[in-house]
Amino acid sequence: MPNVANLMERSVPQPVLDTLRCAALVASWETVKVQKLYLVGGMVRDLVRGESSVDIDLSVVGNGPGYAAALSNELGGQVTKVSKFGTAAIETDTLTIDVATARVETYEHPGALPNVTPSGITEDLARRDFTINAMAIDLSSNCWGELIDPHGGMSDLMMKRIKTLHADSFADDPTRALRAVRYETRLGFKIQGSTIDDMQRDGARFDAVSPARVLADFRYILGEASRAEALSRAEELGVLGSISPAFRISSRSLQAIKDTPDHEPLFHVSLIGARLTKSEADTLIERLDPPADWRDALGAGSTYQEIASVLERSDLRPSEIAELLSGFPILALEAQLQLAPATRQRAALRSWLEELRFREPLLSGDDLLEAGVPRGPLIGRLLDELRRARLDRTVGTRDDELTLVKRRLPVMLSNGKER
Ligand code: ATP
Ligand code: MG
Repeated sequence: MPNVANLMERSVPQPVLDTLRCAALVASWETVKVQKLYLVGGMVRDLVRGESSVDIDLSVVGNGPGYAAALSNELGGQVTKVSKFGTAAIETDTLTIDVATARVETYEHPGALPNVTPSGITEDLARRDFTINAMAIDLSSNCWGELIDPHGGMSDLMMKRIKTLHADSFADDPTRALRAVRYETRLGFKIQGSTIDDMQRDGARFDAVSPARVLADFRYILGEASRAEALSRAEELGVLGSISPAFRISSRSLQAIKDTPDHEPLFHVSLIGARLTKSEADTLIERLDPPADWRDALGAGSTYQEIASVLERSDLRPSEIAELLSGFPILALEAQLQLAPATRQRAALRSWLEELRFREPLLSGDDLLEAGVPRGPLIGRLLDELRRARLDRTVGTRDDELTLVKRRLPVMLSNGKER
């Protein structure tokens, strides 16, 4: 068994290493009832690749939550997210530590949440997604630094290969397909052929996975620098299609996602929504059950398509542009701007986003009251009219606005009476 203690000394940042030593110390206390402690997950993978990562995943043979409480106390952190699966998270000022009780997971049906039984590290590693994520480093004081690699993770790291541990892996948990493309594109690896076969055979089983779990893994993809490549690969392998037939991303949207690496996730969601039909957007929204801002971002595209051709007209006044665009989320319009060809539509979008939407009347509601307008809905209607006039530049000064109010007020009052 190789020992990577030296590698840890060299590659792990000092504060993280100190935390791992503290974790090992706490595990040795009789009171916490820990038989063994291991570092697992992404940090082991990244360490063996010669990179450092900051999220610490620990696996405990023994009482995981009890150990998490003791370690958190020692680190001056807080325990969050204790789950019925024997997991807990510790948050310190600088680090997040996930503590899990080593366990075997069985699935009652594909995609279901697992049934969990405590186990040793071998069984715990056997339930993991890919060989490169199924290694552990022993942190117990007498075996500090021993690498446990029962599934050939090290060799797959060298071969740059993403491989599941067994053929039914995606049937157990189809969300692993999203994880596979995420690691593949992040690390510049390749998913092994047989793993792709398994993925495509069991892809249809995504039906059994809850919206919340699909959404969580989709968010992780959007959080990656390689998000565009990961989405493209997920589409190519049929993963998006097996989540929902409505889940397609146009090549222009993909390119736009690639071109905007520093934009927020909601902007990228807006780009995906930008080219969906209404029924696709509705289907996808139902499948992902996302929060309101995502719904609006996904749904805005088809509504925008309905008015896009009107924006091409040459005789549009600014107030008409405002009327067409003011109901849309700003990010949805910024996404359309990113996609729009260099036509009038583009100019209209740009002028709304950059200038028109900020143009407000000089007079306020209070000014209107002072000018003798009766309190009530008329105030709002007059302000709208002033806003339109300002957009179209038919008023300039405050006096112009007052003149307009005095001209329009009697008409509006008499219209009101007729009704
Ligand atoms: P990242 O760098 O993205 O955090 P990670 O490998 O640490 O990568 P986590 O999501 O933090 O990923 O999960 C920690 C570990 O838990 C993984 O390395 C893997 O061993 C295991 N794991 C996570 N999700 C699954 C899953 N759906 N199926 C099986 N094992 C999983
Ligand atoms: Mg992690």
